Amino acid sequence: MRMIGVVAAAAAAATMACAQDSDMNTLGEQYVRLVLAMGQHDADYVDAYYGPPEWRREVDAKKIPLAEITTRAAALAKETAAAAPPASADELTRLRHDYLARQLEALRARAAMLTGTRLSFDEESQALYDAVAPTHTEAEFASVLAALEAKLPGRGPLVDRYDEFHKQFVIAPDRLDAVFKAAIDGCRSRTLQHIQLPPGESFTVEYVTGKSWSGYNWYQGNYRSLIQVNTDLPIYIDRAVDLACHEGYPGHHVYNVLLEKMLVRDRGWVEFSVYPLHSPQSLIAEGSANYGIDVAFPRPERLQFERTVIFPTAGLDAGAVEGYYAVLSLVDRLSYAGNEAARRYLNGQIDRAAAARWLERYGLYSTPRAQQRVRFIDQYRSYVINYNLGKDMVARYVEAESGGGSDTSRRWDVFTRLLSSPRLPSGLAR
Ligand SMILES: [Zn+2]
Repeated sequence: MRMIGVVAAAAAAATMACAQDSDMNTLGEQYVRLVLAMGQHDADYVDAYYGPPEWRREVDAKKIPLAEITTRAAALAKETAAAAPPASADELTRLRHDYLARQLEALRARAAMLTGTRLSFDEESQALYDAVAPTHTEAEFASVLAALEAKLPGRGPLVDRYDEFHKQFVIAPDRLDAVFKAAIDGCRSRTLQHIQLPPGESFTVEYVTGKSWSGYNWYQGNYRSLIQVNTDLPIYIDRAVDLACHEGYPGHHVYNVLLEKMLVRDRGWVEFSVYPLHSPQSLIAEGSANYGIDVAFPRPERLQFERTVIFPTAGLDAGAVEGYYAVLSLVDRLSYAGNEAARRYLNGQIDRAAAARWLERYGLYSTPRAQQRVRFIDQYRSYVINYNLGKDMVARYVEAESGGGSDTSRRWDVFTRLLSSPRLPSGLAR
C-alpha cells in the first residue's frame, strides 16, 4: 500500500511538473511573439531571434500597435503570475518563471517609454535592467586622476597627455585582423579548457564603420555568431583581447550558445530563442562578457599573453606591456564617470556638449571618443550601466559562489552555470 501510495504521489508530481512545463511553454511562446512585435517599433529591441521563422513572418506581416502590445503584455503578466511554481520546485524551474515575469515587466516599461512615459536614469535602469548604478561625485574620481597625473607628467590637460601616450599603442590597420585572430585563438583555447561547447559552434568577424559601439555580437542561432568590429576610430592594443573575450569566448558568443543548447534545445524553453536588448538579460550578458575577460585571463596570464603573442603580432614593443597596463588599470577605475555623464545628461541636468566634456575630463575620453560615446548614450541610454555595474555584480556573485579563492576551475564552474541559467540581476545579490 505504502509503495503504491509513493508511486501514485510521484506520478501526480510528474503530471504536475508536465502541466507546469506546458503552461510555461505556452506563456513563453506568447512572450516571444510580443518581443518580436516590439521590434516593429524599436529597431534595436530584438537583438537575436532564432525561434520558429513563421512567428517572425506573422509579426512582419501585420504591425501590432503599441497600445495592443501593452494590453497583451499586461494580460500575459497576469497569467505568468498565476503560473508561479511551488516553493518546492527545483531551482531552475523557479528561475525560469521569475525570469519570464521580470523580462515581461521590462517589456512593458520599454513599451511605456516608446509611448512617451519619461523615467529618470535610475528609474529606467531599474525598470529595464533590474539594477541601479551607484552615483559618484567629481571628487571621487580625483584620486585616480591624481595618480594618472603622476604617471603621465607634463603640460596641458591630462586627457591630452593620456591621448598622446595611448596613441603609441594603436594597432596598425594592416595588422588588425592578424592581431584579432591571435586574440580569439587565445580566448577560445582558454575557454574550451573549462567549458564544453557543442560541435559546430563558430563565428564570423566583420569590420564595419559608422556605429556608436566598438564591437557587436549578432547571434544567429545554430551556435553561430556574427561579430562586428567598428573601425571608425583607431583600435588600441588592449582592445584585441578585450573584444575577443567579450564578443566571443567566454563572452556573448559562448553565453548565447549555452542558452541555445541548455535551455532552448535540451529543455524546449522557447522564450530563450529571443533576446530583447532592453531587458535584464542585457545586464547579465554585458556583465558576464566583461567579467569573462578576467576569468579567461587572470592578470599575470594576461600580461604574459600580451608580451608573447599580442604585442609581437601587432609589431609593438613587448617591453612596454607592464607600463601600459598599469596606466590602463587606473583609467579603468574611471569607468563609472561614464555612467555619471549619462545620468546627468539623460536627466536633463547637462546638455550633449557638457556630457562630452564630462567624459573627457573625468573619464579621459579623447574628443572623438567622447562624441562617439554621447551618440551611444543617445541610442542606448541607461544601457551603459550594464558594462561596468554588470561586470561588478557578476564578479561579486561568481567570487562569492566559488569561495573567492585562487581555484580557477571553481570560478569557471560557477561562471559557466551562470551563463547556462536564467538568473536575474537582482538575484545575483543574494
Ligand atoms: Zn557586449
